[in-house]
Amino acid sequence: MKTTPVIAIHGGAGTIASVASDSSAAQPYRDALHAVVSAAQAALLRGASALDAVCMAVELLEDCPLFNAGHGAVFTHDETHELDAAVMNGADLRAGAVAGVSRIRRPVRAARAVMADGTHVLLGGVGADNFAREHGLEMVDPSYFSTEARRQQLKLARVADRVALDHDGAPLVEGSKFGTVGAVALDMHGHLAAATSTGGMTNKRVGRIGDSPLIGAGTYADDLTAAVSCTGSGEMFIRAVAAYDVCARMRYAGQSLKDACDAVVMQTLPAIDGRGGLIAVDRLGNVCLPFNTEGMYRAHARGAEAPQTAIHR
Ligand code: ASP
Repeated sequence: MKTTPVIAIHGGAGTIASVASDSSAAQPYRDALHAVVSAAQAALLRGASALDAVCMAVELLEDCPLFNAGHGAVFTHDETHELDAAVMNGADLRAGAVAGVSRIRRPVRAARAVMADGTHVLLGGVGADNFAREHGLEMVDPSYFSTEARRQQLKLARVADRVALDHDGAPLVEGSKFGTVGAVALDMHGHLAAATSTGGMTNKRVGRIGDSPLIGAGTYADDLTAAVSCTGSGEMFIRAVAAYDVCARMRYAGQSLKDACDAVVMQTLPAIDGRGGLIAVDRLGNVCLPFNTEGMYRAHARGAEAPQTAIHR
């Protein structure tokens, strides 16, 4: 019997204040989320693997200038870009990731190439850029990732001397672009996968690596339990091993997906000042999209049902 496929995506969590106060400002985000989740849903209904679906969704989000991944990525303190991405396949626990890359147009493709190669799980910096080039992936000049709105965010963060979650940029610049991106999916064959891609946090120190490319912290998938992609203050997600903790709670403590997600997002993370959220789907097709911030750009679709998008509670 075939499993009903499920896809969920996120475009980052945070205050999302400008969008909160103006519903017309939210429309482009809703449209983008709807288009991406619909494309991945259609692929899953045609029989695509969860791995293909999450990579497709994240690539589309990387290309979309509304989100903090690929084009539109945030700036480091030195006004450069350092991108992180990861992918994990729940059927066999294969995983691949890149960290601190600055020339790969779609970092999630590089993460997948690292996984396909199979020798290593995580490649960083110049070595990862070189690996992607050798594997024929599209390379760009670092300026490809830059946008004026991000430059303004960096200026504000520098003045305030803080490292900012992309979506918390306050005051938000009109038309500014928010959000680490991620996707989780369950395919017709009952397999799970997760992928995450990000520019990290505005004004981060050069060399800083967040949770997104760390398997277990920002990204995890295991067919026995769930697929998880996180967004938020990466340091705390690393310390909480957030994505894996959801799966571990299910596996070792017998918790439901919902109880596991709520414990991590509403208890473990806040206890160490961790702000953000995650998207998760389990092997039964349950979906959980919890966050402890004001909002999280998100969408999901089950089977052939109409996709649902949401930003605030
Ligand atoms: N988790 C990401 C990081 O710390 C940031 C985000 O989710 O926007 O790099």
